[in-house]
Formats: sequence, structure tokens, C-alpha cells
Amino acid sequence: MIKGFRGTSLIDYPGKISSVIYTYKCNFHCPYCYNLDLIIPEKYKKLKDISVDWIIEELKRRSFFIKGVVITGGEPTIWGKELINLIEKIRYEVKLSIKLDTNGSNPHLIKELFEKDLVDFWAVDFKTAPFRYHEIGGEFDKVEKTFEILSNIPEKLEIRITLYPPLISEKELKEMLPYLRNFKYIAFQKCIQKNKKFSYPIEFYRKAKELFQKELPLAEILERF
Ligand code: SF4
Repeated sequence: MIKGFRGTSLIDYPGKISSVIYTYKCNFHCPYCYNLDLIIPEKYKKLKDISVDWIIEELKRRSFFIKGVVITGGEPTIWGKELINLIEKIRYEVKLSIKLDTNGSNPHLIKELFEKDLVDFWAVDFKTAPFRYHEIGGEFDKVEKTFEILSNIPEKLEIRITLYPPLISEKELKEMLPYLRNFKYIAFQKCIQKNKKFSYPIEFYRKAKELFQKELPLAEILERF
């Protein structure tokens, strides 16, 4: 399940120094994915598997200065029970806060994690307008269910929107707005690609932020651009 580990990060868990665990495989195929080593079989097969026991020992060794653990991917939730076991081990053996990054495609597992209160902070991607999810291999009705479950804990959730021009224009943003009414933190992220033709000028980010602030007055729109 695990193919990567970063011991210390200052940017992956809002307000906490954290370690980052990378799972491999993903059920989406976003064209801008910057973790290709973890999602293309020919690439991830070359990476060494990392055992949960090794991770737990590393976290214990660092637990005097890290305050949280981020589990990201790939898509962590495709690992089902294995992911739950990992989270329980971290929670009960190392006692660190846990943040989970997900594309929202496994509401069944997310419900179980939510009901067991195993995750302290969630980051869920909102990739494009619902009618375009099929283009990245996703089913929006599953993501919508995830949104419904996590709308119960808006203070523990960040929705991440990567402004990748071929998937998100003003039209898509307007289609996404109705699904965001119950959320508190929405982050606009810059699409980082070597090919600059898939980046918006800064004015687009500002306009998008203005639109969201106007339509979602209770939300804080975070700038990652
Ligand atoms: S959901 Fe994340 S890991 Fe999966 S393809 Fe998209 S960007 Fe890559």
C-alpha cells in the first residue's frame, strides 16, 4: 500500500509540522497529475514497498517534533481496510493527528472513517463540474456522497480546487458552486506543470476567488496560487 514517506513537511497539514505517507495506485486519471510515479504501474512497480511497521517506528522516532501525519497518494481510500488499519495504528500507537487527502471516490470507506472519528482533518478534491467527471475516470455521484458525509464537519474539511484550464473554466466553476454551500474552507490551487500553456494568468484566480466569495459568503477562500 505504501510507496513513499517524507519525514518532515511544513506545508501538507494546515498549522502542523507533519510527516507524509504516500500510498500508490489511483482510480482517476487527472491529466495534470504530478504523482505519476505512484499511479502508473510501470513506474510504481519500480518503487520499494514500505511496511506499516517501518512507518510506525519512523513516526515514533519523530513524534517529539511532528504534530500530524498526512496520508496522501495516489488515492489512499482504494486500500479499504488496509487504510483503516494503518490509521488505527497511527492513532493508537503514535497518537498523532491524521489528515487524509482523497479524491472523494469511496464514500463507503469515508463514512466508516467518519463514523469512527479516525481522521482529524480532510482534504477532498473537487476536480471539475459534475457533468465532466467521466473525463477523468470518476463518478460524481460518489464524490457528492462524500461531500454529504463530510458536510457534517465543515471545520475539519478543506475542499481543494485545482484550476486546470482544460477541466475548469468559469462555466465549470459556476456548476460546482451549488455543491459547496455547506463548506467552510475552499482552496484554489495553482496547476503546477512544466507546460505553461495549461496555466491561467493570475487575474483568472482573482476573478474566481471574487465569484466564490460573493456566492459563498460563509466560506473562506484560501489562495494556493
Ligand atoms: S486523483 Fe490525484 S493521484 Fe489520482 S490521478 Fe488525480 S491528481 Fe493524480
